[in-house]
Amino acid sequence: MKHYFMSTAEVLNATGSSEGGLTSAEAGRRLGQNGPNRLEEGKKSTLFGRILAQISDPMVLVLIAAAVISGITAYLSGESLSDVFIILFVVVLNTALGVIQESKAEAAIEALKEMAAATSKVLRDGRVVHIKSEELVVGDIVLLEAGDAVPADGRLISCFSLKVEEAALTGESVPVEKTDAALDGREGDIPLGDRVNMVYMGSAVVYGRGTMVVTATGMNTEMGKIAHAITTAQEGETPLQKKLAQLSRILTALVLSICVVMFGVSILRHFLSSPVPGTDLLDTLLGSFMLAVSLAVAAIPEGLVAVVTIVLSIGVTKMSRRNAIIRKLTAVETLGCTQIICTDKTGTLTQNRMTVVESSCGDEKLLATSLALCSDAELNEEGQAEGDPTQAAVVNYANRLGLPKNELTKNYPRVAEIPFDSGRKLMTTLHQKPEGGYIQHTTGAPDVVIAKCTGYLENGQVLPMTEDKRQFFLSENKRLADKALRVLAAGCRNWDTQPATLTPEDENDLVFLGLVGMIDPVREEVPAAIEQCRAAGIRPVMITGDHKDTAAAIAMQLGIITDRSQVITGAMLDEISDEDFINNVEHYGVYARVKPEHKTRIVNAWRNRGYITAMTGDGVNDAPSIKNADIGIGMGITGTDVTKNVADMILADDNFATIVSAVEEGRRIYDNIRKSIQFLLSSNLSEVISIFLATLLGFTILKPAHILFINLITDSLPALALGLEKGEADIMKRNPRNPREGIFAGGVGFGVFYQGIMVSLLTLAAYFIGERIENGEWRIVNSDDGMTMAFLTMSMAEIFHSYNMRSQYGSIFRIKSHNFYLFGSMILSFILTAVVIYVPFLRDMFGFTAISFKENMIALALAILVIPIVELVKLVQRRTAAKKA
Ligand code: ADP
Ligand code: MG
Repeated sequence: MKHYFMSTAEVLNATGSSEGGLTSAEAGRRLGQNGPNRLEEGKKSTLFGRILAQISDPMVLVLIAAAVISGITAYLSGESLSDVFIILFVVVLNTALGVIQESKAEAAIEALKEMAAATSKVLRDGRVVHIKSEELVVGDIVLLEAGDAVPADGRLISCFSLKVEEAALTGESVPVEKTDAALDGREGDIPLGDRVNMVYMGSAVVYGRGTMVVTATGMNTEMGKIAHAITTAQEGETPLQKKLAQLSRILTALVLSICVVMFGVSILRHFLSSPVPGTDLLDTLLGSFMLAVSLAVAAIPEGLVAVVTIVLSIGVTKMSRRNAIIRKLTAVETLGCTQIICTDKTGTLTQNRMTVVESSCGDEKLLATSLALCSDAELNEEGQAEGDPTQAAVVNYANRLGLPKNELTKNYPRVAEIPFDSGRKLMTTLHQKPEGGYIQHTTGAPDVVIAKCTGYLENGQVLPMTEDKRQFFLSENKRLADKALRVLAAGCRNWDTQPATLTPEDENDLVFLGLVGMIDPVREEVPAAIEQCRAAGIRPVMITGDHKDTAAAIAMQLGIITDRSQVITGAMLDEISDEDFINNVEHYGVYARVKPEHKTRIVNAWRNRGYITAMTGDGVNDAPSIKNADIGIGMGITGTDVTKNVADMILADDNFATIVSAVEEGRRIYDNIRKSIQFLLSSNLSEVISIFLATLLGFTILKPAHILFINLITDSLPALALGLEKGEADIMKRNPRNPREGIFAGGVGFGVFYQGIMVSLLTLAAYFIGERIENGEWRIVNSDDGMTMAFLTMSMAEIFHSYNMRSQYGSIFRIKSHNFYLFGSMILSFILTAVVIYVPFLRDMFGFTAISFKENMIALALAILVIPIVELVKLVQRRTAAKKA
């Protein structure tokens, strides 16, 4: 028989469970037997697949071709095979590094996913525990509430106003009202959309609460049946990664075609320039082929894409340690451009540790009873309330007055309820009275409750509400709200018989019982974080369901606004046309008494004005605004699954300050990537210019193996280390970067250009000095001393230049931070360069010659020149920038 036809007792029996859930031992056994509750993912890439992907890179293919061809010719002409070895060594090393980097980056992303993994509340051994949803087994009893993603398939065994959205399975986006009663019938089948006492994995609870007993997990769920093997959402590449991959492709294509042309031209020249007998075609071919290869190796920025990937993945790991968990890699880049942070007040700016500190009422005991009964929080063994902070606060308050919640519920058992939602701003419960009859308690935002009251309590008597009294209660509300207190009102209503259904229509005709004000202290780190936002050109905007005066008081205290005209309420917002709102959006810093729908309007208005906007959210209804924001931020602690699932980033600590530190990190990462890019491209340019000029003049300045060495060692290592640079001192003192600017904006293009020329001129100078020393006169010929010196100068210049790149415009002598990675890569590069130049066997292999001490010193001196030259240019740049300002 199908689960939906069974009675509650029958389903529990069929799933081998009980009212109190499974024992952990039994759950463990079932987990071992049936496997985790998870949909199978698409195949992970294998090691072999990864190696293949590395080798099929055009660059690597060129190198392999070069190795094969020079191998054959060397074999035919009986020369040494050293070039072949060097090239193959580089290919192997490059592939190995590539594979390691890629696996590491993937592992970092995987670890983040793990951190954001869903959890469920289940009954195990008769107690409520939080477990990873992956550990659910058939028979587990799961507690569901608004905002939860349904973690497995299950049959409902209890249900309070439960509404579930099942669009993923049925395509129907209107939430379905659920029930816990057995469906009519014993046999046959009912379409999935009509099984109103079942809930399915992949749907979301949008209202109310309930409990289910799990009937299917993992691939046995309806979701598992549809999506037999879903490939997890592609880890999208960031805009920057896309741009760089494109740049690399364009450069590669360009260089390869230039190489083909050069190759063609040299063959043509061979035939046209009356072939000198003795120079045979094979030599010419080989010569021009190797030249083409050097050029290709010089110009293609192999390291570029890899460096960016590594820096990003290290960056997100670092961010997760600072409690910002990145769900979409693109967010890292966007974070750096953030201009507006729209943030919830409760829990994000404040601690969400509510304590009732004041009340205003006729009878405090009655008020406290009403509030505590109309709350889902319960006292634990230590006598502390647990649950939603607002609801816990009132239960603690009643307890302090000698009204413990458990005793209250014993006398007044709850028989019906309408859950709190931030749209209505009310919560209602219905209780049986010991003396017979029923009493309804409605609590919520004072303005809303007071509007629904027709009576009030005075000296134990119910009097009809008058306009004067209403104004008085509202002024009491304002008095409390002005002290930055969150205010809650309570009202009640008697029923002789239990109403068949309880609907928001019944939240009416109430007797006003009073008000309580609770403090919610501001988080300690927040004032400093707001200050930081200001300095960094980021505008914080506060959004809250709380009363206007409460919101204004806290916002003023935090420095988010300077005067009260900057506060607007949801009701006022409804009066303003979209156009007006968009034009004035900059004026408002605080939104009070808003409903979740307003948040979407706020985000859209800012975005409409071209601002990069971040938006936080926790409740189910916040999902649309989070989706619309440039950076949707979900709350790790109070957030619901539904909002977390659409967020770009999750705050593990719900803290506003974490957003700011994530922005800082985003800026740092982008800055560093730019430094790496500028460094890599300028050094590629210097290689291209050197080879090009040398070829034009008719000599060989560097061989492909030399260029390969420089690219692999003295370029890639420092470029990576630059990616790990700490943030520059002024990183949170400048305005956000313009998201529409390209990679070469902000002086990067110019830097690449002049620094490329600088290094190539120094290298050429080294070559000619070497030639002069070798031959005793200035000539334009091949020279071993020249080549060795050119190599030494170029590789050393790169190392020194990487130090220049620690700051784009600042003097490197003023940087206070240390970059040990850069220092380490410098030492390593020094040693490796020294080894290939001074160890005789390697020296021969690379085709170098032993140069004198003097030549060594000259080459080094030339290399060091990059530091004063770049310092000078930076000085001029700073001066001109200062003059402009
Ligand atoms: P916030 O954005 O500050 O979390 P909410 O929309 O959650 O605002 O709450 C708005 C108002 O509703 C609060 O000022 C309070 O008066 C009332 N309120 C909040 N939570 C509850 C609750 N659980 N039961 C009754 N009233 C509540
Ligand atoms: Mg709230």
